[in-house]
Amino acid sequence: MTATGQDTRDAIVVGGGLVGAAIAYGLQRQGLTTVMLDEGDVAHRASRGNFGLVWVQSKGLGAPHYQHWTHASAGAWPELAADLLATTGIGVGLHQPGGLHFCFSDDEMAQRDALMGQLRREAGNAGYEYRMIPAAELRDMVPGLGPQVVGASWTPYDGHASPLHLLRALHAAFQDLGGHYRPNAKVTAIKAAPRDFTVAIGAETVRAPRLVLASGLGNADLAPLVGLSAPLRPERGQILVTERTRQVLGLPTHVVRQTEEGSLLLGDSKEDMGFDTLTQTPAMMRAIAHKAVRTFPWIAELNIVRAWAALRVMSPDGKPIYDESERYPGATIANCHSGVTLAGAHASLLAPMIAAGALAPEMSPFSARRFDVQKAA
Ligand SMILES: Cc1cc2nc3c(=O)[nH]c(=O)nc-3n(C[C@H](O)[C@H](O)[C@H](O)COP(=O)(O)OP(=O)(O)OC[C@H]3O[C@@H](n4cnc5c(N)ncnc54)[C@H](O)[C@@H]3O)c2cc1C
Repeated sequence: MTATGQDTRDAIVVGGGLVGAAIAYGLQRQGLTTVMLDEGDVAHRASRGNFGLVWVQSKGLGAPHYQHWTHASAGAWPELAADLLATTGIGVGLHQPGGLHFCFSDDEMAQRDALMGQLRREAGNAGYEYRMIPAAELRDMVPGLGPQVVGASWTPYDGHASPLHLLRALHAAFQDLGGHYRPNAKVTAIKAAPRDFTVAIGAETVRAPRLVLASGLGNADLAPLVGLSAPLRPERGQILVTERTRQVLGLPTHVVRQTEEGSLLLGDSKEDMGFDTLTQTPAMMRAIAHKAVRTFPWIAELNIVRAWAALRVMSPDGKPIYDESERYPGATIANCHSGVTLAGAHASLLAPMIAAGALAPEMSPFSARRFDVQKAA
């Protein structure tokens, strides 16, 4: 910090959720002095209200670049978890035993098989291992499966982690490595020039040649300030949590997962509700509980102890947006609706690209310019 109140760094990251924190940690680990400016734990809280899956299956249908990115992220996760533990002593509870997506009719099984087959074809040489597992075999893998379950798809790539421990560990590791975290720092204006960005926070300013906008839904307002666009919308999701019970579920599923502490998380709702996060709806909570009990009838014996709603950060096609400004080189935006899954890629693959000064060519399909093409068509 200079006497004039100007803080000069190698990089500014706006947003302290899972996306901003993973990138800021990755940049600081690359040796770049980085400041993370964060409005804080205000209403939208996707990073604090999510399900915690590190999930590969069903991601990137018709978009092999997204499938590869997700796969690469799941592959980068073990090293990320180990590094965070070594730096901070915080375990993020990563388990990657593979995951199950249940089907309740033969038709559903056939459709799911077709979808997984397409993903395999689109994976090309990278490969995509999956199996459709019939109910009789599933009963040996997970206990107390309901009679209505006909089978499930399985890939070895899926897993889960504690999203709250992950967020805490990313923040702690970032700061342990010398990164500067500024809470209560809502960014509303940016002075942009090529490889020269200045952001005012109260009476102080922060200046850097790299600027990363990773403020979740906030990017919709901030991206235009650096000549980019982030056409994002909120999508509400609700989650129910049961009381703790003995460890019964050895692997995560898309509707139920068991935490290291023993609670079961039940969820999977997707609701287009604008910016209304606070309301949990009895009808949706009933639907979530019903689906969980239909899958595992024994869940009906457990008490629900907590429930919440939070907003996903959704682009028009549901895929991430990574873009860099042509007008103001050095400015990058990053958004996705799978910030837990993609934390490995954000810290270990995206941050080095940003540090090096440009996104790799294979990232171009993630540009928000794809929506201009869709609009024109
Ligand atoms: C119900 C639910 C279940 C989910 N389940 C999973 C899952 O199982 N697996 C998975 O991978 N993902 C899951 N997700 C998605 C995941 O939670 C999000 O992708 C991720 O949290 C997005 O992180 P983010 O940092 O982009 O956004 P946010 O968490 O919204 O964080 C954005 C941050 O930026 C700050 N900010 C905003 N505007 C400004 C500004 N102008 N100046 C400074 N700071 C600002 C905010 O205060 C906030 O701290 C789920 C999401 C929900 C809602």
